[in-house]
Amino acid sequence: MHTKQIGKNLYLIDLETGGYKSLIGSYVIKTAKKAVLIETGPTNSIPNLLCGLAELKINPEDIDTIAITHIHLDHGGGAGTLLKHLPNAKILVHPRGIPHIVNPEKLWSSSQSVLGFVSEIFGKPEPVPQDRVIPMTEGTINFGDNGKLTIFETLGHASHSLSFHESFNNGIFLGDAAGTYFQEFNLVSPTTPPPFYLDASIASLNKLIDFRPSVLYYSHFGKADDAVRRLRGYKAQLLMWDKIVQEAVKQNQTFEQIATSVLTEDPIMSKLANFLREHKVYAKTAIDNSICGFIEYAKKTQTKLVS
Ligand SMILES: [Zn+2]
Repeated sequence: MHTKQIGKNLYLIDLETGGYKSLIGSYVIKTAKKAVLIETGPTNSIPNLLCGLAELKINPEDIDTIAITHIHLDHGGGAGTLLKHLPNAKILVHPRGIPHIVNPEKLWSSSQSVLGFVSEIFGKPEPVPQDRVIPMTEGTINFGDNGKLTIFETLGHASHSLSFHESFNNGIFLGDAAGTYFQEFNLVSPTTPPPFYLDASIASLNKLIDFRPSVLYYSHFGKADDAVRRLRGYKAQLLMWDKIVQEAVKQNQTFEQIATSVLTEDPIMSKLANFLREHKVYAKTAIDNSICGFIEYAKKTQTKLVS
């Protein structure tokens, strides 16, 4: 198991879900008074997460809050399973996500249809008891010594997404609000599965930029500096994809044609394309699903214009 201190009071656990390194991460903020976990990751890697906590010498009893950016399987899917091991913890989640973690049947079936075989790598979520949920769209968690975690909505990737700003290092936990970060390339690609909402996503990126963060913590994967420039770059990338896909949809292009345009016209994607195509999970999530999200969004907006 790979754990690492990445800042003051801050640790990253590589969950190595399905044996894939640097695919999904959980973060822990730990002070003498308090420990908060950000993201559970999926059900199937909860044993790895527990090993990571042990490696960091964090007692399961000491974690009182698990904050999840959203309920998708790779971020909060493991919540029900994890709670059985963390007796004092509650799950902080957007209220719109609550029905789906308390009764995850619909979440599981929709994940199976969007993610296909990847949903099996992540695993089926177990229900979260209603009395262990904290609904929140904004607020703060205080760690003492002026340390705090600020919770705020960043919709777009999902209709129930949250991000969290931590004051110790002026960093933000993004979930999927600002894409997938590939550390070895130092590049970001869109994470925009359907249903994707471009306008909400841009508004969220503006909100993230307004914090003037120094660092970003991607759930996929890891810490990145140069935060504001990176967020602005992601905004520009989303707008570029929208332009490419809107035009292609107008011309009734096939999915393959659209994918080729995106992967060649976006200079970042052209650098990542070979790596992504050969990666079993990213070929599905970062290419197919992200482009599908833009195609559905384009079809929706174009229908609206016609009617
Ligand atoms: Zn994700």
